[in-house]
Amino acid sequence: MNTIEHWINGTATSAGSTRTAPVFDPATGKQQASVLLAEASDVDTAVAAASKAFESWGDSSLSQRTRVMFAFRELLVKHEDELARIISREHGKVVDDARGEIVRGREVVEYACGIADALKGSFSDQVSRDVDVHDFHQPLGVVAGITPFNFPIMVPLWMHPVAIATGNTFILKPSERDPSASNFVAQLYAEAGLPEGVFTVVHGDKVAVDAILDHPDIAAVSFVGSTPIAKYVHERATATGKRVQALGGAKNHAVVLPDADLEYAANHLTAAAFGSAGQRCMAISVGVAVGAAGDKLVGILERKAREVKVGPGGDPASDMGPVVTEAARERVVNAVAQGAEQGATVVVDGRGLTVDGHEEGFFVGPSLLDHVTTDMTAYREEIFGPVLAVVRAETVDEAIAIINANPYGNGTAIFTGSGEAARKFQREVKVGMIGVNVPIPVPMAYYSFGGWKDSLIGDSPIHGPAGVRFYTRAKVVTTRWPHTSTSAAAFTFPTSS
Ligand code: NAD
Repeated sequence: MNTIEHWINGTATSAGSTRTAPVFDPATGKQQASVLLAEASDVDTAVAAASKAFESWGDSSLSQRTRVMFAFRELLVKHEDELARIISREHGKVVDDARGEIVRGREVVEYACGIADALKGSFSDQVSRDVDVHDFHQPLGVVAGITPFNFPIMVPLWMHPVAIATGNTFILKPSERDPSASNFVAQLYAEAGLPEGVFTVVHGDKVAVDAILDHPDIAAVSFVGSTPIAKYVHERATATGKRVQALGGAKNHAVVLPDADLEYAANHLTAAAFGSAGQRCMAISVGVAVGAAGDKLVGILERKAREVKVGPGGDPASDMGPVVTEAARERVVNAVAQGAEQGATVVVDGRGLTVDGHEEGFFVGPSLLDHVTTDMTAYREEIFGPVLAVVRAETVDEAIAIINANPYGNGTAIFTGSGEAARKFQREVKVGMIGVNVPIPVPMAYYSFGGWKDSLIGDSPIHGPAGVRFYTRAKVVTTRWPHTSTSAAAFTFPTSS
């Protein structure tokens, strides 16, 4: 069976690792590979290589860095199909959905191709007599990214193109559940001309993560994953003086007002709830049906949920693949059972679903729960599976109050024909990313991505301008070229003249 190795110093290596974790094919439920799990000493080896590479990469020209990014972007286009299949095989999502995450991730590479513009400093002429001031940004050094299973290529791409284009060297610790896409990316970077040691992949579990968080030669850590781990990463890595951006979990609400086109809204809710088997940080997991929208909306959602074709990710006929592990499947099944016990109406029940020829796969069908209330477990917990919970509200104000009382604040959407309601919603809701008649409002790469409250620990969103700030430090330089013959020392505090 294939063993997936680390990528250190421009080559695949097992370093000193001997522990492994199984990598499953979620469509069959069978183990298809093993992935090495790094020890702290392997992280040391990776950091040493990345530190060495930083000596020259940190000093490389903007032209050299952007040339690599342009070449890397072309390779991502060329290998899109191969990469999509690698993702689908280990994650389970359908191939077209995997292609979608490659395209959205590639947009960050395109942003990084224009990094010269984002890195421009400012200049103030003659701030005092014969004195000018300018600022400029320098890379931090070795930085690391720790990423979740659900977007094995897009989420790392939120990080490394910006980190590398701004002159840092980058160590990626991807999810151990779907590790292969990261090694493929490492090969593409090498082919694009990125010097050895600038991009490193270390596979592993908590041992590798802790070694990264504690390592004195890592300057910054980017994390995306569940909220409890985001909090842990933030606390432990800031304690060792690192910069940290830590994005956590979500419970995203879509509000549907009675004046919305209900067929349109239901279409989008269905895709946003059940696409990628609900395993998206921006998935809609709660529909808030307002007033008269309620029964009609649930009727349409029921019809559409029953139409979702569940099957292997590699089958072009599938709309939705399996969830990532057997444990994830059980979590979904239990969440629906608890919803029923606590009084929700199970309108569509995905628990019993099996897929012919794939009886051992981690499949679970779409579930639709109605009359969910905010005290139920199915509402309070992030299920991270294909379950859409519908909560009823009387007014848009009540819908906003429900969202604002939720501990998460990643994404939300409103479906309405009313500009007034949409404007009120976007101004009052305590959520970082908002869609108006758009279900999964993932910002473009030249904006930054980040939620509020428990969906973002610390204060740095990811990619775009916030990413450039995160991976660089500014210097402000005050300059005077004096007439040396006439200048004399002054002992009062300098002010402008
Ligand atoms: P996870 O938190 O279990 O794992 C994320 C990373 O942390 C992985 O690399 C994993 O190896 C590591 N990790 C796990 N447990 C650890 C521990 N105890 N100590 C140290 N490291 C540990 O998340 P996941 O299940 O891979 O991904 C799903 C979660 O990610 C969901 O909560 C989802 O909402 C969230 N997510 C959020 C965003 C966002 O932008 N806010 C994006 C994608 C996913």
